[in-house]
Amino acid sequence: MELWLTEKETEHLGLTCRVKETLFSGKSDFQSVEVVDSYEFGRMLILDGVFQTSIFEEYIYHEMIAHVPLFTHPQPQKILVIGGGDGGTVREVVRHETVETVEMVEIDGLVVEVSKKYLPEISAAMLANHPKLKVEIGDGIAHMKEAENYYDVIIVDCSDPIGPGVGLFSREFYQDVHRALKPDGLFVQQTESPFYHRPLISRIYHDIADFFPITRLYLANIPLYPGGLHSFTIGSKQYDPLQASVPELLPFATRYYNSDLHKSCFVLPNCVAELTK
Ligand code: SAM
Repeated sequence: MELWLTEKETEHLGLTCRVKETLFSGKSDFQSVEVVDSYEFGRMLILDGVFQTSIFEEYIYHEMIAHVPLFTHPQPQKILVIGGGDGGTVREVVRHETVETVEMVEIDGLVVEVSKKYLPEISAAMLANHPKLKVEIGDGIAHMKEAENYYDVIIVDCSDPIGPGVGLFSREFYQDVHRALKPDGLFVQQTESPFYHRPLISRIYHDIADFFPITRLYLANIPLYPGGLHSFTIGSKQYDPLQASVPELLPFATRYYNSDLHKSCFVLPNCVAELTK
């Protein structure tokens, strides 16, 4: 029998893929957690019915959320990742030579456990107990309240603004992020689809701009997410991603990110640029 799985994007739209088998299905205190093997995307992580990442295209999201901010900061040393329990973002962060420590604060231990077991390519740095990496199971919102003038770069690799992730999209959180960063620090957050989350993107952009003198929206093509185009927003105290000097020859191999793309990802179609006005 054919098995098809649909993520409901809106009330009237879904993304459907054909599934070979379900590898894991469970429930944590925070959400339902599933891993399925699909024909087009390979193994996929699904939280509360929402597609999070897949073996087929995960490199796009993880390279773009990690390398754009890390190549914007000239000397990133202390890094915090909020969420990102599949491990893909920290896998990219530890590749930067200047990085000394990466703290990852993920609320759901089951996501970490399941990713290590079923998505070893993505969770590689966690699996290897990478010496730069410290994984903490806890609430990123609470963690942010404790830090002051400490991090060079904060990466908010969160799920959708529902459930435990809601507070990660609030003004109060951005104020806490600002305080936790050093005077030249910067942060990035995944900010959803420019087609299906337009009021959210606009609200977040303006909230971040209230705290950070440099606020920039950038885009990446991500086949797993609604509409195939995904947005990220940077808030920076000093360094402008548009002025970053990214080496043409990167110190490591990437499959999506490169120095030209670092510039072009900030070029916005009018229908997206208007969200920042
Ligand atoms: N790439 C993904 C996307 O955009 O769909 C995000 C992946 S990552 C799996 C998101 C993680 O954020 C989830 O594992 C979720 O448990 C975690 N998360 C949600 N709220 C959180 C919070 N308040 N503190 C820390 N982690 C949180």
